[in-house]
Amino acid sequence: LAADSIKGSYGRRIAQYNHTMHEKLMLEQKIVNTMVESLQREDFQVYLQPKAEINTGRLIGAEALVRWKHPEFGMISPGDFIPVFEKNGFIYSLDLFVWRTACRMLRDWKKANRSIPISVNVSRTDLYHKDLPETLSGMCRDYDLAPDELHLEITESSYVRDSVQLLTVIRRLRQAGFIIEMDDFGSGYSSLNTLSDLPIDIIKLDMIFLRQSENNLRRQKVMQLIIDLARELDLPVIAEGVETEEQAILLKAMGCPYAQGYLYGRPMPETEFFKF
Ligand code: C2E
Ligand code: MG
Ligand code: MG
Ligand code: MG
Repeated sequence: LAADSIKGSYGRRIAQYNHTMHEKLMLEQKIVNTMVESLQREDFQVYLQPKAEINTGRLIGAEALVRWKHPEFGMISPGDFIPVFEKNGFIYSLDLFVWRTACRMLRDWKKANRSIPISVNVSRTDLYHKDLPETLSGMCRDYDLAPDELHLEITESSYVRDSVQLLTVIRRLRQAGFIIEMDDFGSGYSSLNTLSDLPIDIIKLDMIFLRQSENNLRRQKVMQLIIDLARELDLPVIAEGVETEEQAILLKAMGCPYAQGYLYGRPMPETEFFKF
């Protein structure tokens, strides 16, 4: 009897597992099926979020963040579809669209005498395209832009210690004149000594430091250490996920020069950002 009931509950659990797995796969398949049409129909939009100097509140740049108005599911956040796109290789087509859109915006803003750099996200899988530096340089030429007007956000996890191939592409991007921002710094397994010899121009401090800092003095000490080290290495730091005035005051006291987060502005469509 006991054995039977165990088997029974085990069986139910398997059934449940298969059910949700199945649903997940169906949803992924649906996303994959619609993404090509979505790209053609321009259901994808590029939103912009301000980056600011903490001391003055001055606008120093913008991050381009993609949004998907899905015909069936409504607004889907990148956290839900980027991983799927990375898995099936579609991310490169999407990123090409986002980068091109950012270049078009930069060109238009320049014509209106409102020049600030735009940072675009570069997925780790994009770095496997060996001609990436030439592709991006060509795009800048098409829109009459200097490469340093476009910043590239590359997440910490792309700086894989033993992947010479990825690091070589990042080095070539930097040599081509693009400004490299290391995204989500501190979220993964980076060791502090890598900062001195990796191709990086700017550090983006992961929001995990702020999320846990209010009641976590040790986190704050690590954050202070990174900010001090970055200053010694002449690497500007942008703190991510700054939502409150208190957090901005804390960062200012710690000597962190730049910030991005809801306190300064949410990601918004181009027209709204232009007014902002
Ligand atoms: P990320 O590059 O680290 O971007 C920052 C994320 O934090 C964005 O989420 C932004 O909306 C969110 N954020 C900004 N300020 C705050 C804040 O004060 N509080 C909180 N809680 N969140 C804040 P989003 O737009 O959902 O994007 C998530 C991730 O998806 C991005 O993280 C990036 O890794 C990826 N992603 C977004 N757009 C693109 C893209 O065009 N291409 C690629 N390859 N990845 C993208
Ligand atoms: Mg980013
Ligand atoms: Mg980030
Ligand atoms: Mg991220």
